[in-house]
Amino acid sequence: LGGSISRALQQMSNATIIDEKVLNDCLNEITRALLQSDVQFKLVRDMQTNIKKIVNLDDLAAGHNKRKIIQQAIFNELCKILDPGKPSFTPKKGKTSVVMFVGLQGSGKTTTCTKYAYYHQKKGWKPALVCADTFRAGAFDQLKQNATKAKIPFYGSYTESDPVRIAMEGVERFKNENCDLIIVDTSGRHKQEAALFEEMRQVSEATKPDLVIFVMDSSIGQAAFDQAQAFKQSVAVGAVIVTKMDGHAKGGGALSAVAATKSPVIFIGTGEHMDEFEVFDVKPFVSRLLGMGDWSGFMDKIQEVVPMDQQPELLQKLSEGNFTLRIMYEQFQNILKMGPMGQVFSMLPGFSSELMPKGSEKESQAKLKRYMTMMDSMTNEELDSSNPKLMNESRIMRIARGSGRRIREVMEMMEEYKRLAKIWSKMKGLKIPKKGEMSAL
Ligand code: GDP
Ligand code: MG
Repeated sequence: LGGSISRALQQMSNATIIDEKVLNDCLNEITRALLQSDVQFKLVRDMQTNIKKIVNLDDLAAGHNKRKIIQQAIFNELCKILDPGKPSFTPKKGKTSVVMFVGLQGSGKTTTCTKYAYYHQKKGWKPALVCADTFRAGAFDQLKQNATKAKIPFYGSYTESDPVRIAMEGVERFKNENCDLIIVDTSGRHKQEAALFEEMRQVSEATKPDLVIFVMDSSIGQAAFDQAQAFKQSVAVGAVIVTKMDGHAKGGGALSAVAATKSPVIFIGTGEHMDEFEVFDVKPFVSRLLGMGDWSGFMDKIQEVVPMDQQPELLQKLSEGNFTLRIMYEQFQNILKMGPMGQVFSMLPGFSSELMPKGSEKESQAKLKRYMTMMDSMTNEELDSSNPKLMNESRIMRIARGSGRRIREVMEMMEEYKRLAKIWSKMKGLKIPKKGEMSAL
């Protein structure tokens, strides 16, 4: 996909006169590419119409960077499709919420339920898992195994065959145990069929979920729209999770799922392990969809805002992939200064959506400052190591004491560090482009 879009845009920038025909050819090429990436036909067609309205031929003719203008327009349109305009219901810690997972068999529901529970548990929640899949043999065992590994309470049965009953009993039990996040895993059967949707309707009616999450496999392709719509018609789907983003599929079906359910994507699954789970970030997702690579937007930004003489050093650090506490410290400093580098780093997935969520800039800044105070109590050895194991209990106690902070807070900072280090490690081996080699796509 990336190749063909680059080619289309390349042709366009070679054309001396940008007229309507050139723009049309270019858009047709991009349309083909997006369809290959499983973006629904109707969405692509609408996007094409919008872009024609937005892109001003006179601007293009005036010799502005044509590729950049069109690329930006496409990028923005795709981002818009992924934003249904209102956030999903967000459970509150300490307040009981019931979350029901739906999706076809094999989409990744059971795995994702555990990831979702584990993610919240790490943040201090009290989650619990209910297995309401009585259709597939072994479903309960799978959930039990996952839950046990993550030390999350679970409920299910080997003998009861009524999913509605189990769901109700499980939710009831965990409400009594004051769990704040009760997660109901459901059956997916083998295909879309009336019985499945009736079952989902009944489970939902019995458990009254605060949120229903539709789980989709990133590789389901053009089937995404109908599938998501069918679930939406039987239960009140309020959010989407896209799984298997570690595979080859670009996940264009996610756009369809958002359009069909009018609900946002909230997380993506990036592997079989419990912690291979990320908060969904629109921009990196669209970059990937367009074949731009998760980091190319970031690299562009570096070129744009980081002074030339500072670029090599930063890029070198990135490509080495050793994310030390000292690098984290420096980046926090940059973010707080909101100098050019701060801008760059707030674009990184993980830095932006999790560390500094929109609307809570003050709290975020206070948090970064708190973390920096703790790092001030670290030794050089600690700051320059990229081995989190070095930070044993006695070191953590010493740092807490030295900075006048609680042990729990130092541990929280180390969790944050590990999370960022994981994102950072993906940049290891990054090819560092020489000046002028960086292409728009
Ligand atoms: P369910 O039938 O919807 O409950 O799906 P499961 O949770 O049983 O998952 C089906 C298969 O997909 C299992 O082999 C999982 O390990 C795998 N799986 C789920 N999520 C992911 C993911 O994000 N990445 C990868 N690579 N595999 C996944
Ligand atoms: Mg399952």
